[in-house]
Formats: sequence, C-alpha cells, structure tokens
Amino acid sequence: KKKHFVSQKVKLFRASDPLLSVLMWGVNHSINELSHIQIPVMLMPDDFKANSKIKVDNHLFNKENMPSHFKFKEYCPLVFRNLRERFSIDDQEYQNSLTRRAPIPSDAQGRSGARFHTSYNKRYVIKIITSEDVAEMHNILKKYHQYIVECHGNTLLPQFLGMYRLTVDGDETYMIVTRNVFSQRLPVYKKYDLKGSTVAREATDKEKPRPPEEAPSKSRMSQKLQTIRIATRFYCAIRHTKELPTYKDNDFISDGQKIYIDEENKKMFLEKLKNDVEFLAQLKLMDYSLLVGIHDVERGEQEQPEEESEDNDAGEEEGTESDGGATGSPPDSPSNTLDSNRPLGPGEFDPIIDVYAIKSHENAPKKEIYFMAVIDILTLYDAKKKAAHAAKTVKHGAGAEISTVNPEQYSKRFYDFITTILS
Ligand code: AMP
Ligand code: AMP
Repeated sequence: KKKHFVSQKVKLFRASDPLLSVLMWGVNHSINELSHIQIPVMLMPDDFKANSKIKVDNHLFNKENMPSHFKFKEYCPLVFRNLRERFSIDDQEYQNSLTRRAPIPSDAQGRSGARFHTSYNKRYVIKIITSEDVAEMHNILKKYHQYIVECHGNTLLPQFLGMYRLTVDGDETYMIVTRNVFSQRLPVYKKYDLKGSTVAREATDKEKPRPPEEAPSKSRMSQKLQTIRIATRFYCAIRHTKELPTYKDNDFISDGQKIYIDEENKKMFLEKLKNDVEFLAQLKLMDYSLLVGIHDVERGEQEQPEEESEDNDAGEEEGTESDGGATGSPPDSPSNTLDSNRPLGPGEFDPIIDVYAIKSHENAPKKEIYFMAVIDILTLYDAKKKAAHAAKTVKHGAGAEISTVNPEQYSKRFYDFITTILS
C-alpha cells in the first residue's frame, strides 16, 4: 500500500468520511485550477456571483478512497483567492493544509455539535453551513471584501478563505473555511464564547466535561452525530487531548476570569473590535461571539514532548510532495515563519501565523497567551427576529413581550462587555 506515496503525482484523499475525501479532492482541484488563472488587476462585479463546478463519475476507479459519484462547487473562486492573499495565506500552503491528511473532527461541543473540523495541522477551521448561510455570504461578500481591503486584513472578523458545496449521494453539504482562531502550537486549556448578554449565557451541563461512561447513548442525539461524537472522543483519547467545553459570559464572570494584556495591546485590540462591530451593525448582522482561548505557558511547557511525538508520526507519507517552499523543515512546521531557523520556545508564537495571539503583560500572575476573535457573524437581524418570535411565542404565548435587541444595540452591548473584561 505504501508504494503509492512514493509517487509525486498520485495523491490519495483518504478520510474516514467520504465528505472529507471529497473536500480534500475539491480543494486540491480548485487550487490547481486557480494556479493556471492569472491574477486579475482587480476584481469585477461578476466575480462576486461566479462559481465553478465539477462533476466526477468514476467507474470501478479509486473506489477505496473516493465515492464513485460526486460533485464539487466552489463559490466566487477569484474573490476567495484574493481574500486569502490579503490574509497572507499562500495558496499552496492552503492546499497542503487541507489535502495532505484528512481534516480532523474538532473537540468543540455546544449547539453546533459535529458541524466543524480543523485541518490536520489546525491552521484552518472547516464549518458545515446552511444554504441560507451561503446566500447570506453572497449578500455580504462585496462589502466584506471592501472592508478587508480597507483594513488591510487587520481585523478580528472571521477570515473567510473558501466556500464550497459538496454533493455526495445526492446530498448537498455546504462548507466554509476560515482561519483557526487558536494556534496550531499552543493548546488552549480554557475557552469562552462571549456575547455580552447574561441571559442564558452559561455552559449547560451537557457542554461541561463529563465522565466517558455517561457517553451520549442515553441522549436524543441523532445516530450520525453520536457516531461522530464517539469518533471525536476516540480521537481525543489517542491524541491525549481533552474535549474542551465552551464556557460563556456568566461562566467568565463567576470564574473571576481575567485577561491580562498591556495597554498598547488592549488599545489595538479594541480599535479593531470597534471597527469590526460597527461594520457588522451596518450589515444588520448580530448574535456573533468573541471566541476567547487561553494558553498557559507553564502548562504548555510540560505538555510539549507529547506534541513533538505527534509531529513525528506525520512523517512517512509526506516529504514526497513539494512543501510550498519550506525545504528542509519538518512537514508540520509553518512555511512562512519570520525566522524559520530558530525554533519557537515555550509561549512564543509567530504573529504571521497566530494572528490572534496576544501575550499576557509582565505583571500578570501567570504567563499566558490569549487568542481572541469574532466568530459566527452570519445571523441577520430579520432571521433572528423571526426565530426569537417563534420561540418566545411557543414558550410564553402570542402576547409575550419580545426583547430582542437590534444589531446596533447588540454591537454596543457586545463592545462594552468586551471592554470591561479587558480591564
Ligand atoms: P446553490 O449553490 O444553488 O446550492 O445555492 C445555495 C444558496 O446560495 C442558495 O440559497 C442560493 O440562493 C445562494 N446562492 C448561490 N449562488 C448565489 C449567487 N451567485 N448570488 C446570490 N446567492 C447565491
Ligand atoms: P459555531 O458553530 O460557529 O457556533 O462554533 C462553535 C464552536 O466552534 C465555538 O464555540 C468554537 O469553540 C469553535 N469555533 C468556531 N469557529 C472557530 C474558529 N474560527 N476557530 C476556532 N474555533 C472555532
């Protein structure tokens, strides 16, 4: 079996889930195609409506790795290529990250369940989204792109890098790829999802860690979801990682959690956040969160050796392909580091790769690294209002007061809350 890997040309997109092998195949195909298409001087209005589609029908071919029939559609390929460039993401590196090995199910719990994966090297997050999300992305894409141009990619908003539709067995699945808020190197031990609202903003018991014997069997999760959950647990067990619960606003307050960053970092962060939420309010988007992850440097140092052995098992089947410029460095090491000769020490990061990382200040009680960025921006006010209305009508009857805030109020409350947690 191993012989296949020796060849430069043969790429196998082996994954436990056919959807993932189609994603790997599709991203590989897309980036190869794009590499033959000249970068235009500027994007045209039609680029924001464009798509490319490919249908594959294999007969008795490569059955082990791919479904025999599938389709792959990429939305606005030139726009997303342009965005990747503005976010300093090399297409070759993007392709490698998503195709060398199968993306892994994320350990995040919560309402999204199994709806997300990270690339094997943890640089990118792949989320399954709805067709409404795809429509909403089309609605905002021009303004989003303009905003990214104006802020020179310097934003806490999600970095949207590619949007795809995969069709397997007649089922359509939509996916969007963004940069991971967290680091590929520095694990976070605590994670918060903050909205600035204290109503029902704590992790539920379901989201909090629980012993394995209480596993999902009793709950009413769908079978597919259960399988993925169990697979995730198994994955985490063999990788010696833990499933991290996502804590919320009230947990942050009751934990007495503090973010110790210096004045300059705080100023830069809040400036970005202010612009970002103003932009979101203009687009009538709301319900987004600030995702916060905390890395403990001392703890990370102790866990370091495990990470290194993780790198080693990546070895064998790689190295045959070109590494996108990172010759001589191990396959998992970043290809665009500032100083690739010097290995990073405990708590150190390359700001070009870990774009959201901020160091704790010198007087902080513990040495920590914080990762903070905005996620989940695609909820439109109108949709939200309708949903809230339906939910509250069910719960409290038709006459009940609806206290849903509007996007402007949401952005202010959100920003104010984040300001308070930084001081
Ligand atoms: P489809 O790609 O046909 O499966 O569409 C998925 C969702 O995205 C649907 O809600 C479409 O209305 C929306 N959509 C697809 N392409 C565009 C486009 N060029 N402009 C606006 N919305 C689109
Ligand atoms: P969502 O489905 O967007 O509500 O996300 C659910 C969880 O996925 C969040 O609470 C995070 O833990 C995680 N998540 C979503 N987007 C990202 C991202 N870009 N980077 C890292 N984690 C993410």
